[in-house]
Amino acid sequence: MLQEINFKLPSSTDPAYITKRGLEILNDPWLNKGTSFSEEEREALGLRGLLPPYRADMGEQVQRVMENYWHHTDPLDKYTFLIGLADRNITLFYRVLMEHLLEMTPIMYTPTVGYACQQFGHIYRKNRGMYINLNHKGSIAEVLDNWPKDEVDIIVISDGSRILGLGDLGANGMGIPIGKLVLYVAGAGLHPSRTLPILLDVGTDNEELLNDPLYLGLTRRRVHGEEFDEIVDEFVQAATTRWPNVLIQWEDFTNDKAFPILNRYRDKVLCFNDDIQGTGAVALAGLLAAMRIRSEHLSDQRIVFCGAGSAAVGIADMICAGIADEHSMSTEEARKLVWMCDSRGLVTDTRDSGVEEHKVPYARDEAPAAELLEVVKRVKPTILIGASGHAHTFTEDVVKAMHQHCEQPIIFALSNPTTKAECTAEEAYTWTGGNAVFASGSPFSAVRYNGKVFVPGQGNNMFIFPGVGLGAVVCGAEKVTDEMFFAAAKTLAHMVTEEELRSGTIYPDLLKIRQISLAIAAAVCRLAWDQGLAQYAEPPDIRQYVRECMYHPEYRPYIAA
Ligand code: NAD
Repeated sequence: MLQEINFKLPSSTDPAYITKRGLEILNDPWLNKGTSFSEEEREALGLRGLLPPYRADMGEQVQRVMENYWHHTDPLDKYTFLIGLADRNITLFYRVLMEHLLEMTPIMYTPTVGYACQQFGHIYRKNRGMYINLNHKGSIAEVLDNWPKDEVDIIVISDGSRILGLGDLGANGMGIPIGKLVLYVAGAGLHPSRTLPILLDVGTDNEELLNDPLYLGLTRRRVHGEEFDEIVDEFVQAATTRWPNVLIQWEDFTNDKAFPILNRYRDKVLCFNDDIQGTGAVALAGLLAAMRIRSEHLSDQRIVFCGAGSAAVGIADMICAGIADEHSMSTEEARKLVWMCDSRGLVTDTRDSGVEEHKVPYARDEAPAAELLEVVKRVKPTILIGASGHAHTFTEDVVKAMHQHCEQPIIFALSNPTTKAECTAEEAYTWTGGNAVFASGSPFSAVRYNGKVFVPGQGNNMFIFPGVGLGAVVCGAEKVTDEMFFAAAKTLAHMVTEEELRSGTIYPDLLKIRQISLAIAAAVCRLAWDQGLAQYAEPPDIRQYVRECMYHPEYRPYIAA
């Protein structure tokens, strides 16, 4: 039976909010408004004399924060400053972040969060989220009971084994679940008090960390195999028992763990893996927008991948599902349009050492080829996607060989950070005489070539995961399906304006993230309700309902005016 819609934001006028008084309120980041408390609130809540007399509005508070923020020149100092603000005043933190989103996402997330993770044990100040470790085996449910909130909508969990492009960072990886959830709140309006970052500490194989006296994780080597699977199982069981509707997002696990975990739980609990499915959807959205530029269909393309890891396989799966869906083809037929290369060259089914499980569907029955250039010359691709984590693999020869057979080559250099991109935007435009449709994982500035300005698109997962997460949460979805990601990709592709397409951009402006997330969440809800996957009753107007569920960082009065 469908429940009445029961997704409700906590209200700051709930009596629970005013049981505290005085310094207790100022020291609680969820309640603190700093200098913004009204005279009446100061009187009623025991705050008289605890604050300077002037009552600042939020705009003035933001101004003060920014003056201080801009004093810092080192990105890590900016990160620490912002985390400090969140520790004092959550509402102001999110207001500042949302008003300076383009400037601050590279601080709260990649690339700066990567440095923050590397330094985690050295810059640690205050608890945030939860650490589940091997010693908790058998009592994870009790450990989760220590989290003070009975309502948790979303958990982002990582075992720290493959943090961005930085490898095994063990417990230091906690910066990633924290940062990702900040993006969920800023980008889609998930309620911050209902988000839970978790670091699953199963040891680390990082020698430097094991020898670092300030490392805060377990100082032992990682466990694998059954022992690892058992702790993940116990966590899933405990988390879904305490919070039956919670969405679990698997984050930055190595491939040998990421694919099996996703496959094991995707039909059992509400969960997804952004590195695989989110990346797939954001790349598919870019390709669908590029098809608008070229007035072609994906089923007419030949697609070569450089890299065959989570990102590449996630993208290929999503593209093939998309093609199969649009053109009534089987997924197997769609896969024939894909050639994948890894560090050993073209992935074929004749490799002596065999092919890892996640690559098997894309292993080709053809002659091996050691070099990307050889593959490009043989296949004559119309789309070239880089997700290898290795810079400069799209050489001038590779790009020119592609352009020889394709007037408007689509080139995605997705490896992060910028220094790892397979080629730069300028190279892609220059080597193709200004004909490439280019997108990257990390941002590139606009390029002037032959008197025309080209604006490269950034295939940022942030376009997709916040909206998918919001949609899944507010309809009470039972699972997250690939179709939902496919719907998200189509929604995103349609939000690129004609003007953006004319300048070569295949993604919308990130500043529209709230509108984008709203549209994606509504599309996800629509699918869930159509397919009987939503537990809550359908509202009369889905968009309106989703909009009302979104958190906005605003102070609300604590006492009736
Ligand atoms: P991964 O480690 O799972 O996979 C890397 C793959 O590249 C492996 O298959 C490896 O064999 C292959 N490879 C390594 N060197 C190569 C070479 N010289 N030539 C060809 N293949 C090579 O990593 P991942 O999670 O798939 O991420 C790969 C890259 O994609 C990273 O740089 C990551 O930052 C980026 N990424 C971008 C986005 C985005 O733009 N939205 C999203 C996710 C990941």
